[in-house]
Amino acid sequence: MSRTAAVIGAGLAGSSAALGLARAGFRVTLYSDRERADLRDALPATGTAVYFGNDARAADARVAEDHYADSHHSLGNSVRIHAADGSPAIAFDGAFTYRAQAVDVRLRTDDRIGDFLDAGGTFEVRPIDPEALDRIAADADLTVVATGKGALASLFPVDEQRSVYRTPQRQLLTVTLAGLDYSPEPWAYRTDRGGDYNLFNIHATQGEIWIGPYLHKDAGPAWSLLGWARPDGEWPARFDRATDAASARQVFVDLIRDYFPDDLPTVERLQVIDADPQSWLRGAVTPTVRRPVGSTASGHPVAAIGDTAIAFDPITGQGAQNSIIQVADLVEAAADHTGPFTEQWLREQFDRHWERRGLGASEVTRLYLGDPDYAVHAELAFPAAAVSPAVAQSLFTLLDVPNPILDVRTREEVLGFIGAVAGEPAEDVLARFEPGFASAARL
Ligand SMILES: Cc1cc2nc3c(=O)[nH]c(=O)nc-3n(C[C@H](O)[C@H](O)[C@H](O)COP(=O)(O)OP(=O)(O)OC[C@H]3O[C@@H](n4cnc5c(N)ncnc54)[C@H](O)[C@@H]3O)c2cc1C
Repeated sequence: MSRTAAVIGAGLAGSSAALGLARAGFRVTLYSDRERADLRDALPATGTAVYFGNDARAADARVAEDHYADSHHSLGNSVRIHAADGSPAIAFDGAFTYRAQAVDVRLRTDDRIGDFLDAGGTFEVRPIDPEALDRIAADADLTVVATGKGALASLFPVDEQRSVYRTPQRQLLTVTLAGLDYSPEPWAYRTDRGGDYNLFNIHATQGEIWIGPYLHKDAGPAWSLLGWARPDGEWPARFDRATDAASARQVFVDLIRDYFPDDLPTVERLQVIDADPQSWLRGAVTPTVRRPVGSTASGHPVAAIGDTAIAFDPITGQGAQNSIIQVADLVEAAADHTGPFTEQWLREQFDRHWERRGLGASEVTRLYLGDPDYAVHAELAFPAAAVSPAVAQSLFTLLDVPNPILDVRTREEVLGFIGAVAGEPAEDVLARFEPGFASAARL
């Protein structure tokens, strides 16, 4: 008789796990607190969920078909860093070593639920509380919890050693807009790669804005705008003015006018998507790692996946990528495992995931957040990227494969990393750097 699995929560992590387990031969029930149609059309996307890289895409392909292979991909980043006084400091346009893609996570999830139903899975709509979870886990061979950052997360206490932060490092605002294709023309003032490149603007003391191609569930080709406000700057008050998609758009237009005016004429051409009033989101994430295995009232072990296990600030786009890698590995390990899914077995799977991806992803996020532990990395690597295309590329490769960051701690190691990547002494690379946007490295 086939084994049974229960998956709680039908976001990206839950729908992917349910599909993967069903295809691996489990009899799976996917529990959702919302109807399938509501998940797609009545809620905002949890996040932009760009897959930056080969690792996440390969993991995704292990659990699901790629329904979006023919849609637009981005191939690099155009970075502009402004000093605290607003003056142009560092610029580089770097190609990825991979193709990145932002697919509306509501679309990806909805497609995944459809594939899961086709694979014979059961989709049950009811909110699961701890008592219900206890009964579900008693009946299932394997129970995983994918309810995101809120509900049921309390079953999984914060891992104080693995969690560096206790408060959000940024306020977040995002809106999806349409009205521009991906041709070079609108972006020619900045990069000849047009919509092939994402834009990433950094202001040293206020925050960051990312603008990138996005496959919207209704509008198709669109643009995602994502803002990070440092808590002690003047941007959080601006983010608070966003109360719907139109006002969110206006917040971005005003920010760009005041801080990154070169981009204003193009960004002003982007318009809200009338078909989707849920195309915006405001909030904050405290980067948090939880103990990965909880125990229900009667002592049944349940495993956390996705944002329930690790919540990332999205500055390096690690949450969805990390989730899908965790899910693909867990599904394959579960398929191969013949004994019971004990607390110890589940914990071992997470510890392996933490080593393989979670820790590196957390540390790369800290680097891009400007954490003081990474001050020397930022001080050296970003100027080096401005004059060395290879260094620029290596900074983006960390979004795909983050673990190399773990071996680069000291000033000497950062210099060694720059030298190895650039193919010449780091001192020679850095000697060529002059502040400003004139010498932007292009690749
Ligand atoms: C602004 C922003 C931008 C982002 N950008 C990126 C990016 O570029 N790249 C990237 O990799 N990641 C990104 N992320 C992270 C990514 O979006 C998330 O990691 C991913 O979508 C989380 O999926 P999830 O399934 O774990 O959680 P969720 O999407 O939160 O899904 C949880 C589901 O569980 C359901 N649920 C909750 N409680 C219950 C209950 N009691 N019973 C039943 N069901 C329940 C909810 O309704 C929901 O459907 C971003 C995040 C944010 C906030």
